[in-house]
Amino acid sequence: MDIEAFRKAGYQAIDRICDYYYSLQNRPVVPSVQPGYLLDALPDSPPEQGEDFTVIADDYQKYILPGLTHWQHPSFFAYFPTACTFEGILGDLYSTSTANPGFNWLASPACTELEMVVMDWSAKLLGLSEHFLHSSGKGGGVIQTTASELALVVVVAARERYLRIHPDAKADELVIYTTTQTHSLGVKAGLVFGMECRALEVKAEDAYALRGATLKSALEEDEKRGKRPFILVATVGTTSSGAIDRLDEIGQVSEDYPSLWIHVDAAWAGVTLACPEYRGTAQLENINAYATSFGTNFHKWGLVNFDAALLWVKDRKDLTDALDVTPEFLRTKQGDAGAVVDFRNWHLGLGRRFRSLKVWFVLRSYGVEGFRNYIRQGIKLNEHFTSLIRASLDFSLVTAPSFALTVFRLTPAGASLTGSELNELNRAFYARLSSRHDIMLTQTVLNGVFCIRFAVGAARTQQEHIDTAWDLLQQEGAVAVQEYMQKISKDVQ
Ligand SMILES: *Cc1c(COP(=O)(O)O)cnc(C)c1O
Repeated sequence: MDIEAFRKAGYQAIDRICDYYYSLQNRPVVPSVQPGYLLDALPDSPPEQGEDFTVIADDYQKYILPGLTHWQHPSFFAYFPTACTFEGILGDLYSTSTANPGFNWLASPACTELEMVVMDWSAKLLGLSEHFLHSSGKGGGVIQTTASELALVVVVAARERYLRIHPDAKADELVIYTTTQTHSLGVKAGLVFGMECRALEVKAEDAYALRGATLKSALEEDEKRGKRPFILVATVGTTSSGAIDRLDEIGQVSEDYPSLWIHVDAAWAGVTLACPEYRGTAQLENINAYATSFGTNFHKWGLVNFDAALLWVKDRKDLTDALDVTPEFLRTKQGDAGAVVDFRNWHLGLGRRFRSLKVWFVLRSYGVEGFRNYIRQGIKLNEHFTSLIRASLDFSLVTAPSFALTVFRLTPAGASLTGSELNELNRAFYARLSSRHDIMLTQTVLNGVFCIRFAVGAARTQQEHIDTAWDLLQQEGAVAVQEYMQKISKDVQ
């Protein structure tokens, strides 16, 4: 493809993307393709001769689009919102147009310095303290791919820091602390590093938050069995229910354990810190006081296209001490002089995408106020959904709503069902929902209770989509209840 052919194909691509967005609302959320549909449709080896790009572009429309789940659909309430703004798309387009692996300052000074700028901007947007900023000269932020990969970076930095403080510690004594509600990233880090990962218990009456007393007794117990917990992954906004660990209590306990690294995973909910009115709930003060590192994904609810997992550390040396490997061919005079940041020592890979560009585009185009209003809109829509649940006799909240997430289930009025019957009913209800293509929600289990998650935040969701979803939930719920009551009355006979 030459430059002029690219110009033409590029214009066409943008046109088609615009058409896609105009048609989005009329598409199904979940595709109706069967497993293997694409494997069967495409040839099993690449073409011998190059093909015309117009044919390739048409095949994207023909084969790929029908197999996509539309995360930007206004009736997408599954998992978590995944940002896709036009500013973000353009940022990625420019970024890929120069294909910069940007691992050292010299490998592209703009890539490094823009990342430093947007990480400081984002820290200020969220209200993080000075010590997390590049401008502090000590801490700083870096854009990683995902919260899970970010956790690997943090765990290795925490391990190295712990071993520097306790050189006598043995590898098999090290333990990663999470809770039963922590995202799988804790267990995954344990698998990758071959370390024990201990999930601390949380209770429904604490809204699934980790309490200081639980942490303290685990630390004491592990000390007795010769184990060395070196990192706690605490969460602000868990995946299942949006629970917020009690960082105030955790922080106080940690004062007696200064070598315990506290990582705060706020992959989904961290963006709420942009709004002053949510900083109390999202525990900004405690994050600033106690977190050794803090991570949030702008690629979820934060308007920046995947991937943009933002990580801040109080002390950048913790990262570079753990991850700096500098063979001769990577040495530069600026790096040797310590005059620049070389982000290759802040993450797992060497090369890295130029992700800061899309963050820059988004933050400038929205501004702080625009960013806040977007978060507020999601929370407001969720409050509307929650009020419908609260007013209903047949549905109830399983735990208090968290920002733009509601966890609920069917609890039909007048039916006296046991815990396991309710679980069975709700599984049947969810099976009905998940066979539909016009809406998408996800399920979860909270301490044995089967429930359904309603996650708001897709950019095009309006109140009318919430109302339509509610009608549909009521209809499917009524059928599920009727079928279930018939089934158990038959079982009795
Ligand atoms: C989504 C989520 C993750 C995982 O995010 P990835 O970036 O996909 O790894 C981790 N923790 C929490 C709390 C999340 O919401």
